[in-house]
Amino acid sequence: MFRHTLNSVPGQFIMLWIPGLDEKPMAVAQDDGKILKIGVAKVGRFTTHLFNRYKVGDRLGIRGPYGNGFKLPESADPNPRQRKRIALVGGGFGTPPLVFLAQEARKKKIEVDFIEGARSADLLLYLKEIKKLGVRVHVSTDDGSEGFKGYAPQVLEQLLEKNKYDGVYSCGPEVMMKKVAELASEYNVDCQLSLERFMKCGFGICGACCMDNTGFRVCIDGPVIQGEKALKLPEFGNYSRDSGGNKK
Ligand SMILES: Cc1cc2nc3c(=O)[nH]c(=O)nc-3n(C[C@H](O)[C@H](O)[C@H](O)COP(=O)(O)OP(=O)(O)OC[C@H]3O[C@@H](n4cnc5c(N)ncnc54)[C@H](O)[C@@H]3O)c2cc1C
Repeated sequence: MFRHTLNSVPGQFIMLWIPGLDEKPMAVAQDDGKILKIGVAKVGRFTTHLFNRYKVGDRLGIRGPYGNGFKLPESADPNPRQRKRIALVGGGFGTPPLVFLAQEARKKKIEVDFIEGARSADLLLYLKEIKKLGVRVHVSTDDGSEGFKGYAPQVLEQLLEKNKYDGVYSCGPEVMMKKVAELASEYNVDCQLSLERFMKCGFGICGACCMDNTGFRVCIDGPVIQGEKALKLPEFGNYSRDSGGNKK
């Protein structure tokens, strides 16, 4: 959390700088004009250094915001029956930007179904915060330790069967987002996904985050992309590239 604002919108990201070590992209989890939040998973060298060496009050570098951000449907109708309704599908550390999106949607009086999926109950992130937002919360865990036993897109499919949505938004593991995009296409609902690719500059110069065969630069043309467009990218849901450009 930083006592700072970048006037960012949900879906945008910052580059977080640890002097002398590296810079890494992190999605904005909140930016209300006073406080800027990110949620970081401890996965490797950079993030372990951050968790182990930094404490409240220490200084870090941030630059941004970068990227395009999610677009919400326009909705100001005071009649609850006429209000727009969206579904958000978050998996793992894809959840933080969707918490920010849900906050902005509620400000616009948009009805929100928030689906959060994780491998097990202890890996469900931000659930307390999400429950306070005035959204309908749906939980899935692979092992059934909380909520629906199975995957988040299965919950989405049940909801798409029952309700009419004005948009589906997703951030998380790419296999999950691919399924979400396929379902949205099947049910003819607008779909926006937030992609992750290896980034160096963050603003479209270095080419590290280009998606194959298109020149789509995730940092500047994304990270938010229409589901239909993502489904046409050969690498979407299949592979990505590491810092040296090798497939993984
Ligand atoms: C647009 C965007 C938003 C992101 N938002 C978040 C977030 O909100 N919270 C969060 O915890 N993580 C987020 N990430 C991922 C985060 O940048 C990586 O987890 C982090 O860089 C890992 O660094 P590391 O040295 O600790 O781990 P490493 O062991 O170096 O990497 C672990 C994995 O993180 C990814 N990664 C590493 N370096 C980069 C890089 N420069 N650019 C992109 N991915 C990288 C790779 O998939 C790698 O396999 C985001 C990435 C992108 C592209």
